[in-house]
Amino acid sequence: MLRKKASVTVPEPVLVVCRTLQEHGFQAYIVGGAVRDALLGKEATDWDVTTDALPDQIERIFAKTIPTGRQFGTISVVTGEQIVEVTTMRKDAHYSDGRRPDYVEFTSDLKADLSRRDFTINAIAYDPLREVFHDPFAGMRDLRRRILRTVGESRERFSEDALRMLRLIRFSAVLGFKPEKRTLLGIQPHLIVNVANERIKEELNKLLAADAIVQSLQLFYTCGLMEQIIPELAQTAGINQGSNHAWDVLGHSIITCQAVRPKLHLRWAALLHDVAKPQTFSKDEKGIHFYNHDQLGAEIAQQILKRLTYSNKLQNKVGLLIRYHMYQIHPDSSDKALRRLINRVGVENIYDLIELRKADILGMKHNPQQVLSYYQMMLKRIEEILAADSALSVKDLAVTGTDLIYELNLKPGPMIGKILNFLLDQVLDQPELNTKADLITLASSYLIDNQLTTDAEL
Ligand code: ATP
Ligand code: MG
Repeated sequence: MLRKKASVTVPEPVLVVCRTLQEHGFQAYIVGGAVRDALLGKEATDWDVTTDALPDQIERIFAKTIPTGRQFGTISVVTGEQIVEVTTMRKDAHYSDGRRPDYVEFTSDLKADLSRRDFTINAIAYDPLREVFHDPFAGMRDLRRRILRTVGESRERFSEDALRMLRLIRFSAVLGFKPEKRTLLGIQPHLIVNVANERIKEELNKLLAADAIVQSLQLFYTCGLMEQIIPELAQTAGINQGSNHAWDVLGHSIITCQAVRPKLHLRWAALLHDVAKPQTFSKDEKGIHFYNHDQLGAEIAQQILKRLTYSNKLQNKVGLLIRYHMYQIHPDSSDKALRRLINRVGVENIYDLIELRKADILGMKHNPQQVLSYYQMMLKRIEEILAADSALSVKDLAVTGTDLIYELNLKPGPMIGKILNFLLDQVLDQPELNTKADLITLASSYLIDNQLTTDAEL
C-alpha cells in the first residue's frame, strides 16, 4: 500500500545514506521509532534505515562502516560526524526461546520486514526521496487514534518475544496511547521469565522516565506483569492503610511515583517506599500500623533493584531515601534536628528526600495546596541551614584526626573516629563550637569523661 502524506524532516546524513543506497539500485526506507515520532511531531532520537542491500553490499557501498550487529543484518554507516544504522530487511524465522528468532532470513519484501515488527505504529516505512509512506498495517490510523496494536495476533507475537508485552506498557506511558483490547488479551505474564533482567530494566527505565505514568503502572499491575517482575510490589495491592489514606498501598505508591520528577532514583524510591507494608502490618485499638516499614522497605527495595541489575549506586541511593522517608521532620523543626537529618542522609540527598516526602503526602488525603506550602517551607528551611555553612559532617569540622593525635598526644586508631563523631554531634547542636580551640577542649573532656588518658593505648 502506498500513501503520500505529510512529509518528515529527515536529517541530512540519513537522507544521504538513503539516496546513496537508492542510487545503487536498492530500496531504502526510514523505519521504526523515527517515523512514528516524526509523525507525532516529536524529535526522533535514532534514525533506522532498512534496505534490501545485503550487509556485504552495504559495506561495499559506504567508505566507513562498523559491523554492529552483522549476524542480524545491521551495519552502522559513518557519514561525517553521524552514525546511521542500516539494517537489511528480514523476515524473522521460528522463535523457540520466546526471546529472539532462531535465525534470520533476509528479504527484499518490505511488507515482510514490517510484519515482524511489534506494533502497527512501529511498522511504518518512509521513503524520504519519494516522500512516500508504506503503511500496510494501518499504523498511521492507530497513531491518529492513539492506539497500540500488535502487528498480527497479539498472543502469538508476545509468545515469540515476551519483551513486547513490556514494550506495550512502556509505549502506553511514553506516548500516552491506549492498548487495544485484543492486544491486551494476548498478554501472557509468565512468559516474561524468558527475558533477561537487563532488558526488563531498560524498558522499566523508559517507562519510569515518562511524564504520565499512573495508568501505565496500573496496567502493569492489572495485566499481571508486575506480579512476575516485582512480586513484592504487587503484594501491596489491597493493603488497607487506615483513615489517612484514600488508596491501598499500591495505589498510593503509584500516585507517589507520579508525583516525583521523572528521575530514575526518585521514581524507584517513590514506587517502592512502602513495599514492606504487607510484612509490617499490625492493628490495635489505635488503628493500623506499619512499624519499621521504612527500614525493611529499604532492604526489600535494594533486593529488587539488585535483581533487576541496577548499579550499587542506584540501589544505595534508593535504599537511603526509603530508610529516611518517615524521619520526623517538619517546617517547625529545630535547626538542630534539620542539621541532624542532613548529616544522616548527606547534603547530596536532602532535596530528594524532601521531594519524596512531598510526593508521599500528596498521595494521602491532604489538601494539595497545603502540601505545596509545606514543601516550600521545608525547602526554605533547608536552604537556610545550608547557607549558614555550619558543619554537617566530620569533614566540615575545624579539626582533623591528625590534629587530635598531635594536640592530645594520641595514637592513631579507631578511637580517633569516635572522638570526631562525638565532636560532630556537639557541633550539630551548637555550630558555634566549631573552632579548633573549642574542639580540642571538648575532645580532652571527652577523654576524661570516658576515663581515657591521652597517652593511653587507644
Ligand atoms: P525508542 O527508540 O524510542 O525506544 P523504537 O520504536 O525506535 O523506540 P527500538 O528498540 O529502537 O524502538 O526499535 C526500533 C524498531 O524495531 C521498532 O520501532 C520496531 O519496529 C522494531 N522492534 C524493536 N524491538 C522489537 C521487538 N521486540 N519485537 C518486534 N519489533 C521490534
Ligand atoms: Mg529507536
